[in-house]
Order: sequence, then structure tokens, then C-alpha cells
Amino acid sequence: MSEIIVIGGGAAGMMAAIKAAERGCKVTLLERNEICGKKILITGKGRCNLTNTKPWSEFSTHIHPSANFLKPAFFNFSNTATIEFFNSIGLPTSVEQGDRVFPLSMCASDVPKVLVALMQELGVDIRCSSQVLNVSHSDALFHCVCGKSDSLRGKRIDVVRYSAPVLIIATGGLSYPGTGSTGDGYEFARSLEHSVTETFPSLTALMPRAYDNDLVGIELRNVGLSLFIDMDLIKIEDGELTFTSNGIEGALGFRLSRRAVQALIKGQRVELVLDLKPALSLEKLRARISRDLKQMGATADNVGRN
Ligand SMILES: Cc1cc2nc3c(=O)[nH]c(=O)nc-3n(C[C@H](O)[C@H](O)[C@H](O)COP(=O)(O)OP(=O)(O)OC[C@H]3O[C@@H](n4cnc5c(N)ncnc54)[C@H](O)[C@@H]3O)c2cc1C
Repeated sequence: MSEIIVIGGGAAGMMAAIKAAERGCKVTLLERNEICGKKILITGKGRCNLTNTKPWSEFSTHIHPSANFLKPAFFNFSNTATIEFFNSIGLPTSVEQGDRVFPLSMCASDVPKVLVALMQELGVDIRCSSQVLNVSHSDALFHCVCGKSDSLRGKRIDVVRYSAPVLIIATGGLSYPGTGSTGDGYEFARSLEHSVTETFPSLTALMPRAYDNDLVGIELRNVGLSLFIDMDLIKIEDGELTFTSNGIEGALGFRLSRRAVQALIKGQRVELVLDLKPALSLEKLRARISRDLKQMGATADNVGRN
């Protein structure tokens, strides 16, 4: 029998299994998909932005508004420790624009590859195609009832039961359920009488009410986006954004989305104002436009004469 069961073979579950196995624990990891780390494959536009080299004080607010909640975790396993960890297990990294760290190969699939290889090396019992259906606790043990699909024998589902004194639920949030994270973990936690914080979309696309599909595909760099809630200016962010069929995406839109979504849930009025030239004052912008118009006029005159 294992000492620890980890439900979920995403980034969190794999790291939890690795760290427990490194300390000599017998670990079983249960993953519903046929492979571990399916969501990692779509991260960083297929390149996986592993971490950032900025100091904590600069990037903490990008993670969560109340960054102190995560401070101990980041201090125990810092961004530099993350880079060293991946380098040491055979994943060289490179630092790109914005101090972002990617695998040198620029291939997100290399990330689960090295994590799975390390789990195998450490003797983690990896059970893919194993969907946990429910969890319970009795006689000082956690019990997971699992539906194990057998692709070789068609759709046949075997029910398997795993028990261990320690259970780690790492089933992900609610984003991109196609990658396997459908929120099962919240139900498991509730069934074990944990309280569960209410969830809402964050780091998500924002779809303006009157959205012009002609914008789709346009990528803007070094622009400003201001968020107004009930006419009050809440936040201004500079950076890049992309207009997609889902609405406003990219780092800039994502950073404002959490606050915007919270306001929308409360029924507040949410407005976004786009500044295409945030580095220029209004006077400088006016001067530049009139200079450009004069130049265009001169060019048009010349074309007319010729
Ligand atoms: C489009 C996109 C791009 C992103 N880009 C980046 C990036 O570049 N850098 C970055 O740091 N983060 C990025 N993220 C965020 C990052 O992907 C997540 O923070 C991370 O994957 C969360 O890992 P997790 O292990 O908590 O959850 P998940 O990766 O969701 O893993 C949960 C796992 O649990 C399994 N599971 C769920 N229910 C059950 C069950 N009942 N039984 C068994 N298994 C179950 C799921 O199949 C899944 O494999 C991005 C996210 C998205 C959606």
C-alpha cells in the first residue's frame, strides 16, 4: 500500500509526487487522462513560460492580489530554485523578453516529459487513465474509488480502489476542462468536509459588449488599458494585448480580467479604455499627429504635381 495518493497528474500533482518520493515516500499518482501534464502542453502558446527571473517584489502582484498568501511557498521554492530544478533534471532553459523563462527547446511538451521521467526514476506508481470517482476517509485511511478505462479492451471500465494514510488533491481549477480539470477536486474536498472557496474566472479573455470581429487577429504591443468600474478608474496596465474570437486576451487583458470579472459578477458597470500611445502626453500626441498630417499633405501635394 502507498503512503501517499496524489489525485491529478498536472504540474502540481507531479511536483507533489516528486517531492514526496524524493523524501522516500511510496507514492501513487492517479491521472484521468492517458498522459500526465496535458494542460502544460498548451501553456505559454505551446512553449511553457516556466517562471520569471524578476525579484519577488516585482512579480508577486501578477500572481494574486493578496500575494502574501503565496509568499511562503515562493520563498521555499523560489523562481531561481525552479530554474535550477529544471536544469538539473535535463531541461535547459532560456530567459526571453520580459524576464520570462522558457525551455531552451521552446517546446512545452518537454516539461511533462522530464517530470514523468523523474517520477519513474523515483519509483512513483503512475496510474494514467484512472479517473477518481469519489473519495472517503475511514480507519485513518483515505480511499479513492477509480474508474480505470482500458483502451486495449475498448470502453470497458474497471473499478479500482486505492487507499493511503495521506491524500493530496491536485485536480486543477476549472479552466480548460478539455485538459481534464473539471473541478472534481472541489467535490472531493467538500465530501471530506473541507470548506471550499467560491471560484470565478480569472486570467481570462474579456468580451466587450459591442465587439467588432474585424479586430480579431490584431496584436498590439506597448499599449495601455484602463479599467473603470462604475465610472471609477481602478487600474491602468501597460503591455501587449491580442484581439481574438474570445475577446481581449494577452498579458494586459488577462491582468485586468480578475478585477473586471469580480465587478461583473456583482452587476457593476465595467469599461475598458485602450490607449494606443501610453508613452505620449496628449500635447505630444497632438503635435505628432499634426506633424504627420503636414508631412502627408506635402507628400500628397508632390504626388498631385507630378
Ligand atoms: C492557455 C493557458 C496557458 C497557460 N500558460 C502558462 C504559462 O505559460 N506558464 C505558467 O506557469 N502557467 C500557465 N498557465 C497556467 C497553468 O497551466 C496552470 O497553473 C497549471 O497547469 C495548473 O496545474 P495543476 O496541476 O494545478 O492543474 P492541471 O494542470 O489542471 O492538472 C490537474 C490534473 O488533474 C487531473 N484530474 C482532474 N480530475 C481528476 C480525477 N477525478 N481523477 C484523476 N485525475 C483528475 C486532470 O486530468 C489534470 O491532468 C496557463 C494556463 C492556460 C489555460
